[in-house]
Amino acid sequence: MELAKRVQTLTPSSTLAITAKAKALKAEGYDVIGLGAGEPDFNTPSHIIEAAGKAMQEGHTKYTPSGGIPDLKDAILSKMKRDQNLTYSPSEVIVTTGAKHALFTLFQVLLNKGDEVIVPAPYWVSYPEQIKLAEGAPVIVKAKEEHQFKITPEQLEEAITEKTKAVIINSPSNPTGMVYSEDELRAIGEVCLRHDILIISDEIYEKLIYSNDKHVSMAQLSDKLYKQTIIINGVSKSHSMTGWRIGYALGRTEIIQAMTNMASHSTSNPTSVAQYAALAAYNGSDDEISEMRKAFHKRLDTLHSWLLAIPGVSCEKPMGAFYLFPNVIRTATICGFKTVDEWVTALLEEEKIALVPGSGFGSPDNVRLSYATSIDQLEEAAKRIQRFVDKHQ
Ligand code: PLP
Repeated sequence: MELAKRVQTLTPSSTLAITAKAKALKAEGYDVIGLGAGEPDFNTPSHIIEAAGKAMQEGHTKYTPSGGIPDLKDAILSKMKRDQNLTYSPSEVIVTTGAKHALFTLFQVLLNKGDEVIVPAPYWVSYPEQIKLAEGAPVIVKAKEEHQFKITPEQLEEAITEKTKAVIINSPSNPTGMVYSEDELRAIGEVCLRHDILIISDEIYEKLIYSNDKHVSMAQLSDKLYKQTIIINGVSKSHSMTGWRIGYALGRTEIIQAMTNMASHSTSNPTSVAQYAALAAYNGSDDEISEMRKAFHKRLDTLHSWLLAIPGVSCEKPMGAFYLFPNVIRTATICGFKTVDEWVTALLEEEKIALVPGSGFGSPDNVRLSYATSIDQLEEAAKRIQRFVDKHQ
């Protein structure tokens, strides 16, 4: 039987693939260090887990409204007011099964065949695939490393055609960890307004910023940009809740309503108990978030300096998320490999270090290292990479 055309070119997420390979090696008894993870290594804070248990005991184990329970919607709206001074109404928010499914549903309701969405590269692996699954066309705009992997308004302007429907801005970024400044966002926003292009603002790493930069959402910059922006966010990265699958989208009522209708025929609703857990996350204290952020910051500083000591590595220091995205093509060449992909494969085979090659993010000269693991593991990883390079050069 032939499968549908839409899935014939679909590949599994490269980040999940490397994690699976590392797990398989571990199961064979190897001492693998995984730097591929896209999730915090901390447990979900205990008050959130307790709230989920209580919700189960109280019988919140049934279908909920498709767009999320009213209390959680209200908590998200309060958070938006508190953190960003943005006012939304309940009809302008949908709770989804993770931020990933918010994006998936958004593309489904926005795109007709051939509609273009501008995706700055390096990009999060799922954007192009999700756009294609909605029969849209991802238009990849390569951000320069010397511009901290951020696209310029000129690049955006050049990529726009009459078919362009939206652009994705992901700040802080996966995989680069870079953060757009308010001025940079404003300049990009102006181009979007001029061409009436929707801005999809993926803010999932909002709480993980280590520099003096403050998280700024495009929607905060003017009334017009507020109306032009769909915000995507969730509790996965901020509260170490990746497995609970709770995300959300905020924006124009007609878009959110269409997404809610679509959810009613696909997921029915995000898991009831997980919604109560997310409610506790937004209504509770942010102390654990601050602790996690501090730990990530320390690891970033440490790993960044270790990496720079490895021959051929260049790496501008990121400001957010929990990834480093060094350029290692010179290192790969020094070691006798033609591509970074080959270097990464050999590193996993010989030294049992799992990194994600940049090719999956549209940037083949780089690798993504996640520092969502302990300092001891990071130190061991840096030692093994150094040993590998010493051996091969
Ligand atoms: N957006 C970006 C940039 C991500 O890195 C991720 C997760 O890796 C997501 C969205 C999806 O988050 P969730 O786990 O809530 O689906």
